[in-house]
Amino acid sequence: MKSTYYTRKLKESRKEQGLCIDCSKPHSTGYLRCQECLDKQAEYARKKRKKVNS
Ligand SMILES: [Zn+2]
Repeated sequence: MKSTYYTRKLKESRKEQGLCIDCSKPHSTGYLRCQECLDKQAEYARKKRKKVNS
């Protein structure tokens, strides 16, 4: 449980600093993640959805 708490804190502080919550790179997408990670997540979500539907 400690690691979960730490991860959440880490992501929170990245969010506050305007850094990507996944890779901690600075970005200006207006989201929690940089463009690269947004793309990765969109791809992942698409695959996941496809799998569920088929
Ligand atoms: Zn990122």
